[in-house]
Amino acid sequence: MRRRAFDPLIGAAVVTVLLLGACRQPARPRPQRSIVLVTIDTLRADHVSPRLMPALDALGHQAVFFEQAITVAPLTLPAHASLLTGLYPPRHRVRDNQMFALPGDVPTYASLLKRHGYATGAFVSAVVLSHRYGLNRGFDVYDDDMPDGGAERSSRATTDLVLAELQRPAAGPRFLWVHYYDPHAPYTPPEPFASRYRSAPYLGEIAAMDEQLGRLVEAFERGAGGPSAIIIAADHGEGLGDHGEPQHGNLLYQSTVHVPLLLVGPGVAPGTSDTPVSTRHVFHTILDWAGLGATDSLRADRKEIVLGEAMKPFLDYGWQPQTMAIDGPQKVIHAGTTDEVYDVRADPGETRDLATSAALSRPLRDALRDYPVPSLQAARVPDAVGEEEKRKLASLGYVGAGTAPVVRAEAPRPASMTALFDPLERASFLFVSERYADAVPLLQKILIADPHNLDAVLRLATAHGALGRAAQADQLFERAAMLAPGSADVRMYRALHDARTPNWPRAVPQLEQVIAESPERVPALEALATLRERQGRPAEAAALWRRVYALRPASAAELARLGEIEMAAAHTEAALEAFEKARALQGPRFTHDLELGVLYLDAQRLQEARSALDRVPPSHPAYAMVLFKRAQVAVLLHEADAAQRIGAARRQAYATTRPLIARERLFAR
Ligand SMILES: [Zn+2]
Repeated sequence: MRRRAFDPLIGAAVVTVLLLGACRQPARPRPQRSIVLVTIDTLRADHVSPRLMPALDALGHQAVFFEQAITVAPLTLPAHASLLTGLYPPRHRVRDNQMFALPGDVPTYASLLKRHGYATGAFVSAVVLSHRYGLNRGFDVYDDDMPDGGAERSSRATTDLVLAELQRPAAGPRFLWVHYYDPHAPYTPPEPFASRYRSAPYLGEIAAMDEQLGRLVEAFERGAGGPSAIIIAADHGEGLGDHGEPQHGNLLYQSTVHVPLLLVGPGVAPGTSDTPVSTRHVFHTILDWAGLGATDSLRADRKEIVLGEAMKPFLDYGWQPQTMAIDGPQKVIHAGTTDEVYDVRADPGETRDLATSAALSRPLRDALRDYPVPSLQAARVPDAVGEEEKRKLASLGYVGAGTAPVVRAEAPRPASMTALFDPLERASFLFVSERYADAVPLLQKILIADPHNLDAVLRLATAHGALGRAAQADQLFERAAMLAPGSADVRMYRALHDARTPNWPRAVPQLEQVIAESPERVPALEALATLRERQGRPAEAAALWRRVYALRPASAAELARLGEIEMAAAHTEAALEAFEKARALQGPRFTHDLELGVLYLDAQRLQEARSALDRVPPSHPAYAMVLFKRAQVAVLLHEADAAQRIGAARRQAYATTRPLIARERLFAR
């Protein structure tokens, strides 16, 4: 029986049934089994082979392979959000990496399993799946700590952590999600795979990861202590140049949407299935295996129209939104007014477009027509990502635009813009890395081919501004304002630019307006805080910096600077707090012990004042002040050597401390 392919209510209905069932039947008679889900980033379905992946192949003898598994979107975060929730992206509302987070009201398998007694753990291997994007909900452990503050973690390092976790006792059956990232660009396999795959490092990454997959599966089966279940899926494939796409995320061809998917476990008959299935049913399969009675499990043979989307070019550049639908061998890619139609069984490379001759079924046309395009404003949280995080994401090639684009009916199809994929990524990377001179020619090239690209106009304007070319910058900001009248992004970029020029006073009211409209725009808060300092209004500057650091973590140097500003504003307690946080982070590299001593003395916390002043080295340029303050503390604490300390302060006094010492009543006795 075929049911309607895209019914946004179905996901919610399944979960409601589950929750009701859970209420009526709190005790479950049959033993719950441990389950592991391994997601492999960027593994192309047609690259899975016994030679390249012997560990996967060994597992395959007990597995069912889905030979036509299709991801919901060729992007890491939306694809994983669907695995976790069973929903297509319009329902879970995560349509792109980085600028969306999973809303708190969408149930996930982790939250459902945890409620039913599972010990839940997740180990992810790249910052693109950081807990900040909301996939951590329902996991007892969500390990997203990248080594050395980097952007990714090798499968070996992740596997080591999982194996250590398996050594610990668990309160119930385990559910583990392990995410491997190695095959994602940049392709830098470890030895011996680097040498073995010198001319094909992508394959080297896959082979290295497979070795770790073998270690993981073996340890999991050994440690599960009973029947276990394993699901392995990729989040998307990799273009490798097919259809003009080097990596993934911009187009909907099989190279990036067709993925490996296999199940091993009780009730699974080994073999293959060539029915097209969506990877979102991993959610239902996990609940089914956990005994939570979900429908739509992959363990049952099922047919449906499989859907997918690629919204990144729309959300970033305003190009046509792209959707696809697969019904048996027939696949339709829809963008703007154009449909491409392929027979993916006879022509898996999608070389022959059948659009002029093929007849599309009614359900297929309906499914495409009803597929919701995202709103450009919905759930867009670009500024939740700090500059440091943006640089890390950029190092992995995640360099999405920061600006809501100009949407227009005559926008180009992404498939006709492939010549820009490389320049766009490269220009974004250079811009985020503040290599403005290198970014300028690429941005100019992009604007010739795509003159409505608002993000490129704003970046080019900002780059010219940073390079001191005010006239060019102004001209481009005018162009941006004409392209997108009323755009908050244009106002913000222009204000940020003005803030860096001699015209900075005119940026103040603009920034105030931007912050009034969007109180969490970190770059605007930072810029206004800096201008408040310049205006000699430290109390307002400090309040703004505190808002910034509530939205993103502060570095030690930033905390020390905040301490100075709080001090200038006569906020003794706030200054002490900021300096002490900086000291905790910096240890012996902390250079504000004199300030701490002064503040503690001011707060009558004499013991702490003494400790802080005693930590200041004699090489400090204001050591005469240290001697003066230390003598005051000595008198107040009735120290035996107070008189000597007063003498030392007098002998080594300089212009600033001499009158203070002369006037100091504590020294008069
Ligand atoms: Zn991915």
